[in-house]
Amino acid sequence: MFWDKVKETMPREELEALQSARLREVALRAARSPFYKNRFAEAGVEPGDVRGLEDLRRLPFTTKQDLRDWFPYGLVAADMKDVVRLHASSGTTGKSTAVFYSRADIDNWADMVARCMAMTGADSSDVFQNMTGYGMFTGGLGMHFGAERLGMLTIPMGAGNTKWQMANMKMYGTTVIHITPSYALHLCEEFAAEGIDPKRDLKLRIALVGAEPYSEGTRRKLEDFLGASVFNSYGLSEMNGPGVAFECVEKNGMHLWEDHYILEIVDPKTLEPVAEGERGEIVMTTLTREAMPIIRYRVRDLTSVLPGACPCGRTHRRIDRITGRSDDMLIIKGVNVFPSQIEDALMSMSEVGGGWQIELTRVEGADHIAVNVEVADSFFRGDIKELNRLRKSIQGAIKNETLVTPEVKLVEPNTLPRSVGKAVRVIDKRQI
Ligand code: ADP
Ligand code: ZN
Repeated sequence: MFWDKVKETMPREELEALQSARLREVALRAARSPFYKNRFAEAGVEPGDVRGLEDLRRLPFTTKQDLRDWFPYGLVAADMKDVVRLHASSGTTGKSTAVFYSRADIDNWADMVARCMAMTGADSSDVFQNMTGYGMFTGGLGMHFGAERLGMLTIPMGAGNTKWQMANMKMYGTTVIHITPSYALHLCEEFAAEGIDPKRDLKLRIALVGAEPYSEGTRRKLEDFLGASVFNSYGLSEMNGPGVAFECVEKNGMHLWEDHYILEIVDPKTLEPVAEGERGEIVMTTLTREAMPIIRYRVRDLTSVLPGACPCGRTHRRIDRITGRSDDMLIIKGVNVFPSQIEDALMSMSEVGGGWQIELTRVEGADHIAVNVEVADSFFRGDIKELNRLRKSIQGAIKNETLVTPEVKLVEPNTLPRSVGKAVRVIDKRQI
């Protein structure tokens, strides 16, 4: 289903012409902010000389550190009287950063989110329960405004308070939810503990799941248990928040709205564009933002552009599932390991529950990796041989995926810390 068919299916040449025109405007607008005035001068860029996409790569990059150095107002390019909202990133990788919105920015954002939601088959007859944090986190108000724009009955629950979430889902007949993958796994455990079978007892049909990386295995686990279709949702506060890229019903990657953003994928070391279809770091330029335009932002999330046209008819390119951030990569005994690889291995095993955590330490000068994994109670009441067999097979699965052999510790359900927002999956004690 389309929210804005003309824009969503715009022929590529038209889309690129629109990007060129908007890039000219955004370069001029950005130069009004103290940060870009300075950065353009340093880079010898005259914003008025930007003719279009062909000049994109002459523009300098922007990094999270720039946002921190010029915190809070250094990137604001509008008159403060026209700025109506502030959000802040969740600070997963350090000090948080602030983002500003004009009325038009809020309006465009709601429109993009409505597009994303419509793309999954949600419509105005749905009951939408937003189960991510409100407040400064963009997942709350961002999805909220988009859901209302689409016309869904919107329940602003926020994250946490799981029993109350479940009660609301039953009372109001919730059909669509928005939730982080880690909280969704936790929710499933709570349903099971309460003897609720979502397939039998709820009307849930769509789960919009994002804000942190998760694997196909996690998607399958959630879909099987919830009896709902799970769609991957991608965004970041620097680019508004959720609604940047989303899966359509084909579930073959996430369409990224190229009338609002320019997408580049670069090699994290050389910062040169990667060959088509190769993995690299996302770099994005906002095309319509008034209050805080951002040019060539190094997002650090790793993905690739998927080849070919999507059968759904949308012309906006698709990015693959994000495997993590370039700064998430762990180096364990000299081997590069992403937490998402370990998740992949764990979620492919039906015995594994929702909770898991990686613990890195240094033992006699060498890296040591332990993976704590929750498994069903029954394993602890049964034969010790079974427990050992499971431990070995988890160890083997992780080794297959990452080439490192971890120590695997099996723990009872609900013993590892739970998060209702973004989960902390890695505890690195090697620096301490
Ligand atoms: P922070 O950067 O502090 O976590 P944000 O709330 O802006 O703050 O989070 C944006 C980041 O969350 C993205 O850059 C990405 O790393 C991660 N993220 C968001 N959605 C997804 C998704 N669907 N898959 C993987 N990672 C995601
Ligand atoms: Zn599609």
